[in-house]
Amino acid sequence: MRYRTLGRTGLQVSEVSLGTEYLMDKPRDHIITVIHAAIDAGINYFDLFGAAPDFRDAMGAAFAGHRQHVYLAAHLGAAIGEDGQYLKTRALKICRTFFDDFLTRYMTDYADVLVLHNCDRQNDFDALFCEDGPLGLALQLKKEGKTRFIGFSGHTVATALQAVESGYIDVLMFPVNIAGNAISDKKDLLKTCQARGVGVVAMKPLGGGKLLQGPRTVRMAHYQMGGEAQKLTKRVPITPVQCLHYTLSQVGVCAAIPGCASVEELRGVLAYMDATEAERDFSEVIADCAQYVPGECVYCNHCLPCPAQIDIGQTLRLFDMAQQDFTPAIRAAYAAMPAPASACIACGACEKRCPFGVPTVARIAEAAAFFA
Ligand code: SF4
Ligand code: SF4
Repeated sequence: MRYRTLGRTGLQVSEVSLGTEYLMDKPRDHIITVIHAAIDAGINYFDLFGAAPDFRDAMGAAFAGHRQHVYLAAHLGAAIGEDGQYLKTRALKICRTFFDDFLTRYMTDYADVLVLHNCDRQNDFDALFCEDGPLGLALQLKKEGKTRFIGFSGHTVATALQAVESGYIDVLMFPVNIAGNAISDKKDLLKTCQARGVGVVAMKPLGGGKLLQGPRTVRMAHYQMGGEAQKLTKRVPITPVQCLHYTLSQVGVCAAIPGCASVEELRGVLAYMDATEAERDFSEVIADCAQYVPGECVYCNHCLPCPAQIDIGQTLRLFDMAQQDFTPAIRAAYAAMPAPASACIACGACEKRCPFGVPTVARIAEAAAFFA
């Protein structure tokens, strides 16, 4: 497993982490087996919005003896209604009751991240994000040591951006997947997270499983995309490895949380860790995204090899990140590259190879001037 720093929290989280949505209706032993397989593989960040008592009890049993080695992300605002179904709430009393229940059933006295749960609309944001609402409760719980950090989850750029810019949240959960590549303001959101030290936990890296369906036209809902709903016509199969490589290549993304319903599905996403460059290559797949905007680098390195040994994708990625905030970490990452952008001899070979119409020679020259 490889680990990344989760923004300003400083937590070292596994690149491939775990969403647990698809385990919620599974038997206790099955849940425990999947969680133990994930822990054995080095996964250490778990998103845990499910609030049903049986699910929480099974999870609590799965993490027993492992608590000090894992990061648990609880949600404030996810509850179970009187009819036994999932309930999103902003009622403080219910939020508090279900958070206390989380601590009890997970047999712990703190969450690592407390996520303000599932907010997409402005009026909901206004109810959630006020000092006498769930935000105020989360701040109070942080003061009491019951959570280390505060997060926010949502599926629309406008509200997520407000949460990020508020300065209150340390972690953003947001859908980042290959089907949403063309949503340009999403890239701006990710860059803002990176500039402000807000760690991005990417949900829906597999588009809720839809991206893995065979070649056909699939409808992607806005919550799977992190933007508008879209029809995606897939001409070639897409693998979990390609999906994860896309998601983990995007600026600001610290961890991806595919939801795995079984050990087999878990193995499918963990294959990413040992996959070859050819297996990770998503360039053919991305061309299928109907709204793809040509000319924008997706950091895929399909343009290599470079006679000057420049890692073009990583150079342009660091350049894009540095536009927002030129941190010492970016400077250090650039200095560690096999060759600087200034080594470019403008041969143009990369530009001919780039499937996405990126004016590579000009962009590398801009990067060279910037990092000089
Ligand atoms: S320039 Fe093109 S081929 Fe190279 S990393 Fe960017 S998108 Fe990929
Ligand atoms: S144009 Fe520059 S970056 Fe591109 S392949 Fe040639 S030397 Fe490498």
